[in-house]
Amino acid sequence: MLKIHNLHVKLEEEDKQILNGLSLEVPAGQVHAIMGPNGSGKSTLSYVLSGRDGYVVTEGDATLDGDSLLEMEPEQRAAAGLFLAFQYPVEIPGVGNMTFLRTAVNAQRKARGEDEMSSGEFLKAVREKAKDLQIDAEMLKRPMNVGFSGGEKKRNEILQMAMLAPRMCIMDETDSGLDVDAMRLVSDGVNALRSPDRSFLVITHYQRLLNHIQPDVVHIMSNGRIVKSGGPELALQVEEEGYGDLLAEAG
Ligand code: ADP
Ligand code: MG
Ligand code: MG
Repeated sequence: MLKIHNLHVKLEEEDKQILNGLSLEVPAGQVHAIMGPNGSGKSTLSYVLSGRDGYVVTEGDATLDGDSLLEMEPEQRAAAGLFLAFQYPVEIPGVGNMTFLRTAVNAQRKARGEDEMSSGEFLKAVREKAKDLQIDAEMLKRPMNVGFSGGEKKRNEILQMAMLAPRMCIMDETDSGLDVDAMRLVSDGVNALRSPDRSFLVITHYQRLLNHIQPDVVHIMSNGRIVKSGGPELALQVEEEGYGDLLAEAG
């Protein structure tokens, strides 16, 4: 599914290397977590995979089902089945949530050469998903993320994910802003959407989020690369001992 090989990334604006030979494989149906101290490059990894400007890949590759993501435009990545949920979801004041979601779904269909969904079809599908995920359909009428609470933003993100039905979901769910309830929403959402042909890469600073998600593999990132990988017990070890010993041991 997702294969990242020896990825080196630097900033476009300054000569600063952020990812230093990061390698990682997430097979179909698995949930992997990336943990690591602040500044280790976790968010940079998700930005680079999403195709955000400002980063230059100097070496290595990232492929989804064998196709290089790095050569694709962001819409093509979405069409290929990649979904990225971010730490700070954007607010778009003039755009209704429903409109945004329908545009995203239809852009994905178009990039795949499929017919657009009519507004009737879309409405039916979105109501069904909202119901399954216990999301109040009223939220869909509001402007995109504007004035949403942390929990509402998370609900919205899970709904987007359900509608786009990605094969590979990357979620940067860092520390700040995720209270216990929002964390619960994220983990329930991930668990509800887990399936044998869908994978998740959940990036988090804290172990708490992983209490409910139960990742198959936990990776520890430091200085722009993965320095250790293991089972869920690795997250517990971080919680108990911090990163100090783990990083020293990994060299
Ligand atoms: P994490 O998500 O693990 O906390 P980040 O990916 O946010 O780490 O950042 C990794 C490093 O790269 C940090 O030292 C950060 O300051 C630096 N960095 C990332 N993006 C930029 C940028 N646009 N300009 C300057 N420094 C950046
Ligand atoms: Mg950070
Ligand atoms: Mg971050």
